[in-house]
Amino acid sequence: MNEVTITGLHKSYGSVPVLAGLDLSVEAGLLTAVLGPSGSGKTTLLRVLAGFERADAGQLSIAGECVDGGGRWVAPEKRRVGYVPQEGCLFPHLSVAANIGFGLAKGPGRRDRNRRVGELLELIGLDGMGERRPHELSGGQQQRVALARALAPRPRIVLLDEPFASLDTGLRATLRDDVREVLRAEGTTTVLVTHDQDEALSIADVVAVMRHGRIVQAGSPRELYDAPADAEVATFLGMANLVPGIVEESYAATPLGALCLDCPGRVPAGAAATILIRPEQLALGPAEGCPPDCPRAAVCRVDYHGHDAVVRLQLRTGPPGPDLVARVPAGPAGTGARPGDVVGVTVRGGVHAWAQPAPSGNGGPEASNGGAPPHEDGTAPPEWESLAGTGGNQ
Ligand code: ADP
Repeated sequence: MNEVTITGLHKSYGSVPVLAGLDLSVEAGLLTAVLGPSGSGKTTLLRVLAGFERADAGQLSIAGECVDGGGRWVAPEKRRVGYVPQEGCLFPHLSVAANIGFGLAKGPGRRDRNRRVGELLELIGLDGMGERRPHELSGGQQQRVALARALAPRPRIVLLDEPFASLDTGLRATLRDDVREVLRAEGTTTVLVTHDQDEALSIADVVAVMRHGRIVQAGSPRELYDAPADAEVATFLGMANLVPGIVEESYAATPLGALCLDCPGRVPAGAAATILIRPEQLALGPAEGCPPDCPRAAVCRVDYHGHDAVVRLQLRTGPPGPDLVARVPAGPAGTGARPGDVVGVTVRGGVHAWAQPAPSGNGGPEASNGGAPPHEDGTAPPEWESLAGTGGNQ
């Protein structure tokens, strides 16, 4: 069941359009992360959802009730929406317990109020700290109090605006897990906005990618990462090798050989395509001893990251090929590849394809792009056809 349904939402500031016909459905009880670059309109979307801004056009419904659109307008305090702003914004002069209980009934309901505050203090792991002031807490603890304050009146939806942005990397990962646990325990429908793709992929049940004031794709983190709607979504979600190819039924002929498609038939046979190969799909091995038809590449650079290493490669097999990026284990299981080495390259698993030529530049700051594009009529350059039977994925 959808807790929130947004259709055709428009919002401009003066003459600057920010939301431009945005559609989004948020399923009850799930955490939906809206992911987009800074300035793409994520906070504006949350503010319209909360009722702090009014949409120019379109319709917004919460739990089946239209709260904005078609001449109807429901005030923020009647929407049962909890909002956690970027910096938490706790009241500095109130205790932690008073901050959490701020939105709860005072007077006769005091016992219930105290019970709910106690329950939330326990849930956020701050039992016994209710009398402290916000400045006596760490940044992560303050964010948890801000979340508890939003959850206290049992809202239908909680909105989180980049809740971990101000925290350092280690704390961010721990707090993410804690927040997820708290939200699961409460069963609250949540919309979180972030520009951090790692955060969105790790915390959310559903990720909705926002671009130019619209949602361009929504789905599970895995669906989006493995089968992005286009090259821009692919590179926004992580490092990507975008190589040109020609689709042949269930595989694509590429400079890396014939690669099996994840979804045969999606791109018509004979069509020029852009092929997505994630860096972790590339396996590297010693060039000596790998089969003669296995593509070979020169190692240009190795960036060590502790848990893994990112290896920049230049394809050496056949005609001038694309620059590639591989992510390989860095420990004892790693390849030990060094700049200047020549390695054999294998592609693991199915690859995703879009029926369009590869872009002329890189697919993104972290991406590499595959050499010359296909011919304009969509046919393969002859040199690729000669590669179609070679190499390929395991
Ligand atoms: P995000 O949260 O994705 O960073 P915002 O929704 O904060 O994006 O902002 C989207 C665009 O709208 C930005 O260009 C921003 O400068 C502009 N903007 C946001 N709020 C206002 C406002 N109150 N008045 C005018 N422009 C605004």
